[in-house]
Amino acid sequence: MKIDLHNHSYYSDGVLSPSELVLLAKQQGCTVFALTDHDTTDGLLEAQQQADNVGLQLVHGVEVSAKWSNMTVHIVGLGVDMNNAVLKQGLKRHQAFRQIRAEKMARGLGGAGVFNALDKVKLVAKKGMITRTHFAQMLVQEGVCKDMRSVFKRFLTGKKPGGVGGQWAQFDEVIKWIQTAGGKAVLAHPLRYRMTNTKIKRLLSHLSGAGLDGIEVVTGSSSADEITQVSQWAKEFGLLASVGSDYHGWPNQRVRIGQLQQMPNVNETVWKDWLWQD
Ligand code: AMP
Ligand code: MN
Ligand code: MN
Ligand code: MN
Repeated sequence: MKIDLHNHSYYSDGVLSPSELVLLAKQQGCTVFALTDHDTTDGLLEAQQQADNVGLQLVHGVEVSAKWSNMTVHIVGLGVDMNNAVLKQGLKRHQAFRQIRAEKMARGLGGAGVFNALDKVKLVAKKGMITRTHFAQMLVQEGVCKDMRSVFKRFLTGKKPGGVGGQWAQFDEVIKWIQTAGGKAVLAHPLRYRMTNTKIKRLLSHLSGAGLDGIEVVTGSSSADEITQVSQWAKEFGLLASVGSDYHGWPNQRVRIGQLQQMPNVNETVWKDWLWQD
C-alpha cells in the first residue's frame, strides 16, 4: 500500500489544482493520499470528487501553523471534518492573519525597493491565500533573487525587510482544533525547524503533553539515519508514525508524491485504526 499523507495544492502554496494532484497521486500508484494545504480545507471538496472518480482513498487533511516558544511549527491534521465549527473558526483566524501579514510584508519590501509587492504577489497566489512561498516566487520572477532559497534568506525571515513574526495560535490550541474536528494531530517534518536534538525533544515533550497523536517519521527528504532517529523519538514519546512527501509541485522540487522510503514502525502508524486498512 502506497501512502502519502502530506501534500499541497494551489489552495495554499502548491502548483497543481486538487484534482490534478489527486490524479497524479493515482498515476504514481498511491492508494491513500491526504491533501494538507496550509491553514485551509477549501481544496478538499474538489479533491474528494476526483478521488471518487479515479478510485483513490482521500484523507481529509490540513497543515496548521502553530506557535511553540516563539517559533513556528507545523501540525498536520489528518481525518478532519472540514465542517467542524471549531476547526473552521481557527483556520479563519489564521487566514485573516495571513492577509494582514501579507500587507505588512509588502510594506517591508517596499522599504527595500520592491514596489507594489502586494499587487504582484496577488497575481501569483491563485486562490487568495498568500503564503511566503508566493512572495518568494514573485521576487524570483521580478529578478530580485535568483532562487527561492535566497529569497527566504534575504527577505522573508527574522528582521529582514519582509520578515513578519507569525501570530499563529499556540500549539495546544491547534491540537485541540484538529482533535475536536475528529482528526489526528501530527507534527510535520520534525527535522526542518533548525533545532538541536535537545530542543526537539523539549518540543516533543510539550506537544505530547498537549495530546499530540503522531509525528512524521518519513518525509520526502528523509535520509535513512533521520528515519531511524525520528522513529526512536516516536517510541520515546508514544507518538504514532506518519509519512508524507510535502509535495508542492515546484519544478525544481525533487520529492515526488508517494515515492517515500519504508517506514520502520509499521505497527504504530497514524492509520492503524482507520477503517479502510484492509
Ligand atoms: P508560510 O506558511 O506562509 O509562512 O510559508 C511557509 C512555507 O514556505 C513552507 O511551507 C514552505 O513551503 C516554504 N518555505 C519555508 N522556508 C523555505 C525555504 N528556506 N526555502 C523554500 N521554501 C521555504
Ligand atoms: Mn508550503
Ligand atoms: Mn510545513
Ligand atoms: Mn507542507
